[in-house]
Amino acid sequence: MIRSDKLNEFWFDIIKNRFPKVQNWSKRTLQNQCRHRIDWLRTMGFIRFDKGFYTLSESGLSFVQRNPPEAIAIQKQEIKAEEHELKKMLLGSFEPFSKLEGKAVTLRRFYVRDRAFRVIVTAQYEHYCAICGFGIQTPQGYHEAEAAHIVPKQKLGTDDPRNGMCLCSTCHWLFDEGILSILSDSYSVIIASYLADKGVDSSVDRILSYKNKLIRTVKNSRFSPAIEALQWHNEHIFLG
Ligand SMILES: [Zn+2]
Repeated sequence: MIRSDKLNEFWFDIIKNRFPKVQNWSKRTLQNQCRHRIDWLRTMGFIRFDKGFYTLSESGLSFVQRNPPEAIAIQKQEIKAEEHELKKMLLGSFEPFSKLEGKAVTLRRFYVRDRAFRVIVTAQYEHYCAICGFGIQTPQGYHEAEAAHIVPKQKLGTDDPRNGMCLCSTCHWLFDEGILSILSDSYSVIIASYLADKGVDSSVDRILSYKNKLIRTVKNSRFSPAIEALQWHNEHIFLG
């Protein structure tokens, strides 16, 4: 529990060593930046206020520790503008790899783009996992499902919405590790043979049951996962 007048100091304490440039902010900048971001964390449901005290949830703490200040308190209009940019990509032919990376991209833009990608992709699946169908949200409306890149960001995968799928955190992990993949011609799930062959461990039965399952269809077919992206995933990430 944090007293309301101590919240700025608390936030500064968490991030000052991790993101040293914050230490050069003047007291006034810090005050403004903190207030702005704390308001945002409250709207996101990470901070609760009760009888003069704030409580930062576990997920809020890990979010603040994980993300530099640039990633926090991104404004709705910034995301909207970037959503517009990403949707424009749908008009052209699909390019699996990002062209943006070669140019200087500000850290802020990088996070705005990430958020816009998430907004577009998860909305197309109504926040349900494309593979297992799981979907849950907090009372504040924070959804568990994430936007996964089919060609991963580390491999310079594009933020074109056709390089995305909405997945729950478990399926996202299975997909990124190559344990699951999606056939590009039928949009059905394939499972790495080592797992199927293991057979005896009942804890993976749920995963094995996804075999041949058709993934959830998007609301607007223009946003369907790109065949080229799925093929790339099958060839380079899928364990086979
Ligand atoms: Zn799932």
